[in-house]
Amino acid sequence: MTLQDEIAETEAKLAALKQRAATATCAEAGHRWKSVGGANAGCELGDECDCSVAVRECEVCGVCDYGESDRPKVHEYCRKRHDALSSETI
Ligand SMILES: [Zn+2]
Ligand SMILES: [Zn+2]
Repeated sequence: MTLQDEIAETEAKLAALKQRAATATCAEAGHRWKSVGGANAGCELGDECDCSVAVRECEVCGVCDYGESDRPKVHEYCRKRHDALSSETI
């Protein structure tokens, strides 16, 4: 096999892989998230809270992630900030 043959074969394989990636399901390739804005984080502090989490949507299948992965972190930060504020005012 010549080097040229090898290159041609590799290129064909690459093209096939790219084709597969383009048509792969999210389960296979993972969601392709795009940011579609933010949502209220819904902390337990209610009105005193103005936290927001990033909302992401998958470009391929349209599934939404309403900041589920960010939420615990945001809540933690919110509680700490609230504690700091309330200890200042006492
Ligand atoms: Zn998806
Ligand atoms: Zn909050």
